[in-house]
Amino acid sequence: MATQPNVLHYINGRFVESANGAFFDNINPFTNEPINQVAEGNKEDIDAAVWAAKDTFDGGPWRTMPVEERLRYVLRIAELIERYKEEIAYLEALDTGIPISQAKKQAARAAENFRFYAEMVKTRLVGEAYHVNGQFLNYTVYKPVGVAGLITPWNTPFMLETWKVAPALATGNTVVLKPAEWSPLTANKLAEIIDEAGLPAGVFNVVHGFGETAGAALVAHPDVRLISFTGETTTGMEIIRNSAATLKKTSMELGGKSPLIVFADADMERALDAAVWGVFSLNGERCTANSRLLLEQSIYDEFVERLKQRVDQIVIGDPMNPATELGPLIHRAHWERVNRYIEIAKQEGADVYAARVPEGLEKGNFVPPTLLLGCHNRMKVAQEEIFGPVMAVMAFADEQEAIRLANDVKYGLAAYVWTNDMKRGHRVAQAIESGMAWVNSPNVRDLRIPFGGTKYSGIGREGGHYSFDFYTEVQVVHVAVGDPPIPSFGKTKPSSALSVEQK
Ligand code: NAD
Repeated sequence: MATQPNVLHYINGRFVESANGAFFDNINPFTNEPINQVAEGNKEDIDAAVWAAKDTFDGGPWRTMPVEERLRYVLRIAELIERYKEEIAYLEALDTGIPISQAKKQAARAAENFRFYAEMVKTRLVGEAYHVNGQFLNYTVYKPVGVAGLITPWNTPFMLETWKVAPALATGNTVVLKPAEWSPLTANKLAEIIDEAGLPAGVFNVVHGFGETAGAALVAHPDVRLISFTGETTTGMEIIRNSAATLKKTSMELGGKSPLIVFADADMERALDAAVWGVFSLNGERCTANSRLLLEQSIYDEFVERLKQRVDQIVIGDPMNPATELGPLIHRAHWERVNRYIEIAKQEGADVYAARVPEGLEKGNFVPPTLLLGCHNRMKVAQEEIFGPVMAVMAFADEQEAIRLANDVKYGLAAYVWTNDMKRGHRVAQAIESGMAWVNSPNVRDLRIPFGGTKYSGIGREGGHYSFDFYTEVQVVHVAVGDPPIPSFGKTKPSSALSVEQK
């Protein structure tokens, strides 16, 4: 039985059905029953949304209004997110299975994203000026790019959507958002909030639907000037290929298989806290999850014993229960994929240790917190992103081996190093091929720092002022302030126009 009203697209300031009237079912991961139906967008719906966004960008007030006025709208969105934070957290937990206590933190972060970019645009979106020999002034201006196509995944969907929407809007672009098909509820709530904030029609648009149809149409559209994408590496590759024909800017935030390295001299209790939280919070569906745990040989047995105790104590249950620490995975298909990897781990010879899912939760997509012990780095489960509450655990002999194992993977998103030898902490963190590294810390992130990965984990950085590189075009204006000489060209006609040879 449906528990929520159906979700429609938000195009040109109106909530509308698809041009062909199609809908798809949105499923509750806790019960596997329908939550509601969602408008299934296609090329016609993308065309309508891009047309509205382009028309508003070219002729509308958003790009040209005083920046203070535009930023007041952005702040208003932040205020409304705060006002509706309980509802947003509820919808997110319902749609994705993320425990409600964790969904609340994500909603708070989403409001921060808008506040932060309102401030950043006011204080940090600044150009440069060069005085050249007293003859020229060269200066730079930052302009919005145009229609921004934003394509987002289903893990922490609301926070990740706002992470892109906030800088895109604050810098003056107009937006077409294509949220993930498995988590449409909070994208719809964002549309309602932006509608209530009173942004001009066409500035922000949402088209729901599948990647291969709605997403691909957005990527191919000639009037979309940039695509900011967060999702799987293989999807990112496809999007880069498909956006080449219209030469779009692309930003790629992709998958990860991030190592957490614990040296024998580390604060073991804190390293344990960080390792457990980093891979089992958000149901393990976190791009920066420490899904590979590298333990120095001398502490391997003790650390693993304590890990097992922690795993056994994780509270598995209804995502709406405030005490729940681990909820169901987003979708049955993803549940099957994660379970397949656990089977592969057994075939590859890993010693699989898993907690028990309590009785009564059979209808949900539950995978218990799972340790793949005694892994080696050549195993598929040590190399591929599983994206669930599953951690591959292996031992290393010394610092060199730890670095070699950490880097021997195609991904390079995050890394975590635990040691009380600070020289080694810096050295190892810098030796790891990752966009981000933390030393003696779980994954905490100040909004000012660049976010992104290397290798197969992404291209480009967003966050802080780094988002300006992507969401704006820099233009340089050269102005002569003196009378610099201009090369004489065709000014005086020579006595004979014929060259020596021609004569
Ligand atoms: P996904 O790649 O399957 O889908 C992401 C989005 O792309 C969805 O909206 C989908 O509809 C759309 N899409 C799919 N095919 C498309 C196509 N051909 N053209 C255009 N759009 C298309 O990813 P997912 O399963 O939703 O998300 C999980 C993945 O996201 C994991 O790999 C995770 O690591 C990654 N992720 C990365 C970051 C990061 O910042 N690096 C953050 C969160 C998630």
